[in-house]
Parts: sequence; structure tokens; C-alpha cells
Amino acid sequence: MISLKDINKSYPGVVPLHVLKDINLTIDKGELVSIMGASGSGKSTLLNILGILDNYDSGEYYLDGVLIKNLSENKAADLRNYMIGFVFQSFNLISYKNALENVALPLFYRGVSRRQRNKLAMEQLERMGMGDRATHLPSELSGGQKQRVAIARALITNPSIILADEPTGALDSKTSKEVMQVFRDLNADGMTIVIVTHDPGVGEQTNRIIRIADGRII
Ligand code: ADP
Ligand code: MG
Repeated sequence: MISLKDINKSYPGVVPLHVLKDINLTIDKGELVSIMGASGSGKSTLLNILGILDNYDSGEYYLDGVLIKNLSENKAADLRNYMIGFVFQSFNLISYKNALENVALPLFYRGVSRRQRNKLAMEQLERMGMGDRATHLPSELSGGQKQRVAIARALITNPSIILADEPTGALDSKTSKEVMQVFRDLNADGMTIVIVTHDPGVGEQTNRIIRIADGRII
């Protein structure tokens, strides 16, 4: 699903910051992996490259056989929208839209009819055990419930891979375990999932831990 060859990435500046150094990494279809490392080690930078949210300077990145390099912004957005589901620490739900509307939103941008979007969004909410919260606003949901809505939204476009950056970072440890169980269930259904975390308890619940220190995989 993912193949990185000798990836390097620097952020420009008076003194450029060399954030990723010769990253080589393969992630197979159906894996549940975590990327762990100290704050500032380059985890989010790596995940953003995997998610085609950011460019790299040298090396090669293949996503499901497609070389992700020097893409136009349109092509990058297309691939991102069709292949990747994102989950974030801060949920990134729209505060004035209810759970169902949040989950349905990616389908709105694809021109899917309201009736069809609502039907598909309800199916994903039910899959997340959130069917009875469809009309609640994010402010009326707990952290764990918000993350379930965000995961339902990530799934609605039927992505090839889920990328999650500190998805349990805002949750207490019990809720964090519940959200990890959601990821494990999705993985058992065949979804490829990459989770960035600094929480060993989260890493422990994945099938492989990739450790990164000072921009290198160790
Ligand atoms: P992590 O997610 O492991 O905490 P990041 O990938 O966010 O690490 O950051 C790695 C390093 O790159 C840090 O030193 C951070 O300050 C720096 N950095 C991250 N994003 C940018 C940016 N857009 N511009 C400049 N420096 C950045
Ligand atoms: Mg980070």
C-alpha cells in the first residue's frame, strides 16, 4: 500500500531544518501500524507526506502503486480525496453541523444527492455505534463520540487507507482504548491504518510499531 524510498524532507529557513532523513518504509495492505517517537521527531511531517498534504525533497513515495511526486495541486487533491481518510487529534468537526451532516460532508463535495448522502452517512454512524446521536452537534458529544463521528466521516469516501495523527491525544485512557478498539475492528475488516502516537498504550494495540527519532526510523 505504501512504499517510501530514501525520503528526505527539510523545512526552509536561515538554517534549513532537515526533518526526515533517508526514510525507507513499506506498509502492506491490511496492516495496522503506529509511528511513535518524541515530540518534534518528524512524525506529523511523515504522516503529512503519506497523506499527500505535504511534499518531500528527494526520494520516492508510491501509494498503492502510484508515484506521488511533483503532482499538481489538483491531482494531489484528487488522490487524497479518493484514497485517504484522515483522523485528527482535535476531531476537526464543523461545530454548527450535526453528526450526520459532518459525516455526509465529503459526499456533498462529490455531488452526491442529499438523500443518498444522508443514507450513507447514517450507515457509517451506525457502524460506529453512533446512530442515535445523528442529530447532535459536536458540542453535545463526548470526546470519544466526536472521534467516532470523525472516523465515520473518514470512512464515508471508502478510502484505501486511514491516517490518524494522535487520534487519542485529546482523550482519557479509557476512551482512548475504546477508540483504539474501533481502529482494531476496522483493521479486522481489512482497512489499512497508520496511527501516529506518542502514547505507548496506543502503540501496543497496533500490530507493528515504527519508531522514529530525530527524523530517522530506528
Ligand atoms: P512530531 O509530529 O513528531 O512532533 P513534526 O513532524 O511536527 O514532529 O515536526 C518535526 C520538526 O519540524 C519540529 O522541529 C518542528 O518544529 C518542525 N516543523 C514542523 N512543521 C514545520 C513547518 N511547517 N515549518 C518549519 N518547521 C516545521
Ligand atoms: Mg505531531
